[in-house]
Amino acid sequence: MNTTQNNEALLDNQMKELVDNQRKYYNTNATLSAGFRIEQLKKLKSLLLKHEEDMHRAIFNDFSKSKYENQLIEFYPLLDEIDVAIKNVKKWMKHKSLKTNLFNFPAKSYLVPEPLGVSLVIGAWNLPYNLSLTPLIGSMAAGNTTILKPSELPANTSAIMAKIINDNFDPNYLKVVEGAIPETTALLKQRYDKIFFTGSPMVGKIVNKAAAEHLTNVTLELGGKNPSIFTEDSDLKMGVKRMIWARFVNSGQFCITADYALVHKDRKDEFLKLAVEEIEKHNFSIENKNFVQIINERNFDRVVKLIDPEKVYYGGTYDREKRVINPTILNNVTLDDAVMQDEIFGPVLPVIEYETLDEAFEIIKRYEKPLAAYLFSNDATAKKRFLKEIPFGNGAINDCVMQISNPNIPFGGVGNSGMGRYHGKYSFECFSNFKGILDKPTSLETNLKYYGYSDKRMKIMKALS
Ligand code: NAD
Repeated sequence: MNTTQNNEALLDNQMKELVDNQRKYYNTNATLSAGFRIEQLKKLKSLLLKHEEDMHRAIFNDFSKSKYENQLIEFYPLLDEIDVAIKNVKKWMKHKSLKTNLFNFPAKSYLVPEPLGVSLVIGAWNLPYNLSLTPLIGSMAAGNTTILKPSELPANTSAIMAKIINDNFDPNYLKVVEGAIPETTALLKQRYDKIFFTGSPMVGKIVNKAAAEHLTNVTLELGGKNPSIFTEDSDLKMGVKRMIWARFVNSGQFCITADYALVHKDRKDEFLKLAVEEIEKHNFSIENKNFVQIINERNFDRVVKLIDPEKVYYGGTYDREKRVINPTILNNVTLDDAVMQDEIFGPVLPVIEYETLDEAFEIIKRYEKPLAAYLFSNDATAKKRFLKEIPFGNGAINDCVMQISNPNIPFGGVGNSGMGRYHGKYSFECFSNFKGILDKPTSLETNLKYYGYSDKRMKIMKALS
């Protein structure tokens, strides 16, 4: 065995031991009661509050995300998710009553939620706290043990999550494993009852294959090219204001942002003018605490390559040393342009004009089913057609990204942008198995199904079923 093989075998063994120990602990039934789940969720919340400043500092050191933006987009939504889970977990754990058909009379029918068991959560880097801890909260509320593997790219953020959790929770119940591809590969060789992955469709396929090996229940939260459509009758002033903030917050490194804008040709000039005004009003910059660095040089170079200088309508400037790309609008973009080949994941907005809604829809359908889609319109027919004809995971009408801030709306993709849903009670469901039960008393039996079949009996059975 060479050194690489040795290290691989060592990692595999470490991960196996970790998973085996979590399974042993899960099998003690310690995580099953509502009391235990609530206690652990409360503990997590108090630890987050205790370490709030450390968490702000860590994410600032990773990509200059300000405290205010961290609170707005990551920290407070996480506290909300914990509060919703603490408040509702007893209700969610209750048996859910179902109708019983006459054929089974007398009986009760119901669903019994149970935890799936040992879960693995793999996070992405762009909202590193939110995308790691929101699924973790769901896993805890549903009564699982959890191994969390945050993204390695924001190294300080990954380290502070590991510190908060590993210093305070039993590793047989919750454990953060830090690391990159070797660690994730070793983790993925093990058998879980649930794998929850957030990241790119490419890595999503690796995760799905690993899950298939053990027929493990899997949720994939992936990405795609999210369209935003501005119709002829659109309230551009409000629509552009909402969309521009959503497009450039986190420097466009946001899985549900509007990747590109499809604008009716008669409104495009006005759209562009308003978009520039909005960008300038915000004055997006790290100094103004409303912009962040591109996560690393690889992503910086990737996004810069998408900026065709011939098509720059606004911005197009960048600073490699600071890893900053200023908000950029590209005009007269065609589907052949580099910027329209893959998800952008950076502060560059391509604008494409269209003439009819059919044309706009046809463009959207050339791409894989997106994670999110947005329609800016007050036209009832356009809204109806948008909801009926365009497949996407989640979205908004006359707004952009804000659907994520309502825990009552299930969050997730479809097809290439993912599978499964979470947030609020959907997170609980995502990490649970619902056992379907028929519960019969022994006092009465119709005897219809037993010996002595006859046409008459068959008729009665048919009528009752
Ligand atoms: P990524 O797929 O590169 O990485 C995600 C995770 O997978 C990380 O923890 C990483 O360590 C691990 N990983 C990377 N390569 C691996 C490999 N070969 N084998 C095993 N594990 C591996 O994604 P990213 O760059 O962190 O995030 C960007 C992508 O995630 C975008 O496509 C974006 O749209 C998507 N995303 C989706 C959501 C959502 O909620 N649907 C949220 C954020 C980001």
